[in-house]
Amino acid sequence: QNKPKIVILGAGYAGMMTTKKLIQKFRPEEADIVLVNKHNYHYQTTWLHEVAAGTIDINRSRIMISDVINTRRVQLLQDTVVEINREDQKVILENGEIDYDYLVIGLGFEKATFGIPGMDENAFTIQSVDKSRMIREHIEYQFASYKNSTNDDGDKDHLLNIVVGGGGFTGIEFVGELAEKVPELCNKYDIPRNKARIINIEAAPTILPGFDQELIDYARKSLENRGVEFKTGAMIKECKQTSVMVGEEEEEIKAGTIVWTGGVQANSIVGNSGFELTKGKVNVDEDLRAPGYENVFILGDCSWVMDKESGRPYPPTAQLAMQEADTCANNLKALIQGGPLENFVFDNKGTVASLGGKHAMGTVFEGKKLFGVTAKAMKNVIDDRYLFLLGGPKLVLKKGKFRPF
Ligand code: FAD
Ligand code: NAD
Repeated sequence: QNKPKIVILGAGYAGMMTTKKLIQKFRPEEADIVLVNKHNYHYQTTWLHEVAAGTIDINRSRIMISDVINTRRVQLLQDTVVEINREDQKVILENGEIDYDYLVIGLGFEKATFGIPGMDENAFTIQSVDKSRMIREHIEYQFASYKNSTNDDGDKDHLLNIVVGGGGFTGIEFVGELAEKVPELCNKYDIPRNKARIINIEAAPTILPGFDQELIDYARKSLENRGVEFKTGAMIKECKQTSVMVGEEEEEIKAGTIVWTGGVQANSIVGNSGFELTKGKVNVDEDLRAPGYENVFILGDCSWVMDKESGRPYPPTAQLAMQEADTCANNLKALIQGGPLENFVFDNKGTVASLGGKHAMGTVFEGKKLFGVTAKAMKNVIDDRYLFLLGGPKLVLKKGKFRPF
């Protein structure tokens, strides 16, 4: 008997939650489910700024997929997707290929560098566990190099500068972690704190453009109090090996570490496989399928979903990706067993950003503003809620952030 085969690409928020929902919806005799992922672990993308700064242990951000997905029900394929062959309904992998009846693409994001000269080559990005680990190791290496440099005419000072390009949520959460980590490194390497600079550069007139002004002001003050410098209305024009060129005057800012947090786009596999892109991602239909494809869903950071109210797409978040997984699983059930497909409706539960240590801010419950430790506690609740959905209380106990303040 021919069972439909559902193949899910990527074990991020979208892929993991879709897989979990499909297990609940289909009995083993009703559908085969295959989850393809680069690694045998799932990682918390929303904690990568902490991995990159070195304020969290790397293993805390990783979860073995087989610990939370029943591998007797789901075939786990640890391999790297190379291309999707839409016409033949096949996925080309580094070590083989796999065919599908239904496909869910959840391959996540890649940096978008908008053609800025030198950015791809010279800047780090907070994009995966491995790439984030490079940043923490590099920063520490720069501190060690500074101590060993015999160049005493002040020219070695730039080794300790960390430039973060882009003041969106990723950039701001990252400098918050650095504000905690850098004093620790200064202590460890006997370097005065004022020698090491953390500089955030944002092209728009303000950091976190479009967010609530009172919360922006709070975040900026909290970070400045802990030694973060901001340059707003300052566009990075070029990135060199040890400096960035900023603004119309092309001011040169030297740094030993340059991290780009200036924008994201869909995993390039999507565009390279022939899906039509709008501003770097696929504009999916209201039921989350790729336009023109009855059996292909594109979720999370690979797609845009239109918010009819604002006429703009929803910002790509883990919150959105997880909610999309619900609709996708319901629609796969409807496609395979008959019934109407549903349109995706986003239920925005708010935005909370960590600012390092006990500091945070954000909005919840339709606009209620939270600051400081209250916001930080809420952030931990949000993080733990996800762990609970993924792996129940056991996972919360193992990896959770439930430290009381
Ligand atoms: P991802 O979570 O990125 O997962 C993609 C998966 O695909 C990964 O497991 C990857 O290994 C796998 N993969 C990639 N390429 C291949 C390949 N070729 N072959 C096989 N597997 C592959 N959102 C929030 O809602 N709240 C937050 O607090 C928040 N904080 C964030 C903090 C940071 C530092 C960053 C960078 C983002 C944050 N976001 C937050 C945004 C959120 O993380 C993303 O929107 C979310 O991760 C998108 O989920 P996804 O499933 O599409 O992709
Ligand atoms: P983003 O696109 O939201 O922000 C990038 C920032 O870089 C923008 O403010 C932009 O003006 C700036 N920029 C672009 N080019 C520049 C240049 N040449 N020079 C200087 N600045 C430049 O990207 P992000 O911050 O990575 O966020 C991606 C998504 O992830 C967003 O949807 C965000 O909401 C989400 N996210 C959410 C959280 C949270 O909820 N706590 C945390 C991190 C990320």
